[in-house]
Amino acid sequence: MAQSVTTLPAGRDPEPELAAAQAAFPMRMPAGWAHRAMPGDPLWRQAMPDGRERDAVPGFSADPLAEAAATVGPGLIRKHPDRILLLVTDRCAVNCRFCFRRHGVVAPPRSWEPALDYIAGEPGLREVILSGGDPLMLSDGALARLAGRLGAIPHLRRLRIHTRMPVVVPERVTDALTDWLERGPLQPVLVIHVNHVAELDRPARAALERLARRGITLLHQGVLLGGVNDDAATLRVLLEELLRLGVLPYYLHLLDPVAGAAHFQVPEARAKAILTELRASLPGYGVPRLVRELPGRGKVPLSG
Ligand code: SF4
Repeated sequence: MAQSVTTLPAGRDPEPELAAAQAAFPMRMPAGWAHRAMPGDPLWRQAMPDGRERDAVPGFSADPLAEAAATVGPGLIRKHPDRILLLVTDRCAVNCRFCFRRHGVVAPPRSWEPALDYIAGEPGLREVILSGGDPLMLSDGALARLAGRLGAIPHLRRLRIHTRMPVVVPERVTDALTDWLERGPLQPVLVIHVNHVAELDRPARAALERLARRGITLLHQGVLLGGVNDDAATLRVLLEELLRLGVLPYYLHLLDPVAGAAHFQVPEARAKAILTELRASLPGYGVPRLVRELPGRGKVPLSG
């Protein structure tokens, strides 16, 4: 099990600050992750509370993407005419310290009905994006029922799921999961969130290979995190391994400026330099798009 060590500057007492960080956003990580995480390593840094989370940093807020203002119904966030986000849970297997939803500004719905009614009444929608929290925290029965209801809406084409579960809890990739994904009426797209190759232990690799073998479209997104993956060599190893596993690069995000995560920030100029290095050493299809998400504007490409 990982130990608690501090990264606070000298002169600050870590204990009360760590306790406050933990109270504000509890540490949570699955057993396999906790077993492997070592103080200061990429797993540890992503999941362990840090006293600096309590620092008030100008420009960093509880709702950095203004999702509360983009909410069109219970758990529904609409940023585009053809796609809509449905937050199906606020639970995750791992509480990532950099998560832009760590303050839980938009709550998941108590009932699917209002969301389904809204989606059914919007013929311009083509894709529903399940997000959270991690949608795969829900049971396969619940997800299959929801997917079935969405599949009965004639104008929908795709069901996208943003998840970290195949990596952090690989045993979640069961036959029941792949069955309803494969047999559902909507085309499934899984966007896998992973930031460092150390997350991809043997079970995680097997889980991703299993999804790929079932023909499910797998895309990768990551966040550029200071002290975790902010160099080209680290990202190249991750992206090469994901390509081998059948997971294609999609987005590399600059950190969303969420209160509590400022210590992960990587300057934009450095991010662009890292992308330039990646382009020189990976095929074009192996390089993600570097983006910054802006409230009201969605993802703004910075490179590629
Ligand atoms: S929503 Fe995703 S990034 Fe946020 S804590 Fe959960 S798993 Fe981590």
